[in-house]
Amino acid sequence: MNRIAGYRCTLCRKEYPFGPERMTCPSCGEKGILDIVYDYQSVRRIFSRETLQKDHDNSMWRYRALMPIQGEGLADFLRIGWTPLYRSRKLGGQIGLNTLYIKDDGLNPTGSLKDRASGVAVAKAIELGYDTICCSSTGNAASSCAGNAARMGLKTVIFVPERAPIGKVAQLLIFGANVVSVKGDYRQTFELSKAAIEKWGFYNRNAGINPVMTEGKKTVAIEIAEQLNWNPTDWVAISVGDGCTIGGVYNGFYDLLQLGMIERIPKILGVQSTGCCPFVNADAAGGALVPTPENTLADSISVGVPRNPVKAQRAVKASGGAWIAVSDDEILEAMRMLGRAEGVFGEPAGVTATAGVKAAVERGMIKSSESVTVVSTGSGLKDVKNAMLAAGEPFACEPDIRVLEASGRIKQ
Ligand SMILES: *Cc1c(COP(=O)(O)O)cnc(C)c1O
Ligand SMILES: [Zn+2]
Repeated sequence: MNRIAGYRCTLCRKEYPFGPERMTCPSCGEKGILDIVYDYQSVRRIFSRETLQKDHDNSMWRYRALMPIQGEGLADFLRIGWTPLYRSRKLGGQIGLNTLYIKDDGLNPTGSLKDRASGVAVAKAIELGYDTICCSSTGNAASSCAGNAARMGLKTVIFVPERAPIGKVAQLLIFGANVVSVKGDYRQTFELSKAAIEKWGFYNRNAGINPVMTEGKKTVAIEIAEQLNWNPTDWVAISVGDGCTIGGVYNGFYDLLQLGMIERIPKILGVQSTGCCPFVNADAAGGALVPTPENTLADSISVGVPRNPVKAQRAVKASGGAWIAVSDDEILEAMRMLGRAEGVFGEPAGVTATAGVKAAVERGMIKSSESVTVVSTGSGLKDVKNAMLAAGEPFACEPDIRVLEASGRIKQ
């Protein structure tokens, strides 16, 4: 694959040839998260605005030239990516923005943006001859890994913390995963999966560690750019847990800039919940990340010890973006707003970026005249408990029109 120049460590910057599969930097150990380095000259020969115009593959595989995989048999996969990018009709006005777009990644096959990473993981595992993939996750990475692996005939061993919402656990079981529900928090879940991978030699889909994961997630950024005719918005907002997604968003725009397909990288807004915001804290203190309790109902971003800090912090810094935290109440409000104003049903972590944009406009960090894309990263249907918390209960009525009329619920 001459498209790939090699790996580069995000800590010590040392480079390694692409070839033998690598997870982390041999000199830095587990913290030495790797980047995949592309040879943009070679990529340019097979990938451009023109080649994309002729490519009728409406999935994320249309960007396979920018992924570290051979790229065979991709047509057999579930349809990942090419999710809709809606121009907001009402919500933008409600939060004080002239131009707002909503990228609904909850419409991926298993209902979250994680399918983009899992697709690449499954492709890579098949390429390397593994028969089992292992993953620890707050929920969505797990269910997307299980679903995409099921489709392609791989087995999965999945570790989730016991607090994972039942909808996500149900998905795992339906996809036939071997599910281990860990009596502990996400950090302990991650550690147990790591020990299992070492012991049994499964393919490792842990997003913080495995460098190919960001290369799948970055397709959301490339898609936003293509859907906006290579003229992305001033800002792109994304919710942050481990930091792999936001790191991917930056990588996607970075690739396009190197290839001359866009003129600038949007400012990236990283959004967390005040109940668990190690990145926002580190930004405010100007120091390193400090582990925090995991205390938010946005379970997918309830990550006290992020596994991909370097790529996440780079994304915000290098793009001239910002970090912001919002309360769980603001997250629930954003859930109602997105649903009612635009018909998009996101899970709490999925709408956190929207809550962050609203807060950033209020605080003057984003100007009304600036254009913004928010990514809704996951479907609300997986976590109906929190949706009911946001939206309340329905009106219970006797099956009698007089009772209904007397209630005053229906107005003409
Ligand atoms: C995983 C996830 C995120 C955050 O992604 P990270 O890579 O952990 O930062 C955000 N929203 C949803 C719905 C997720 O599942
Ligand atoms: Zn290193």
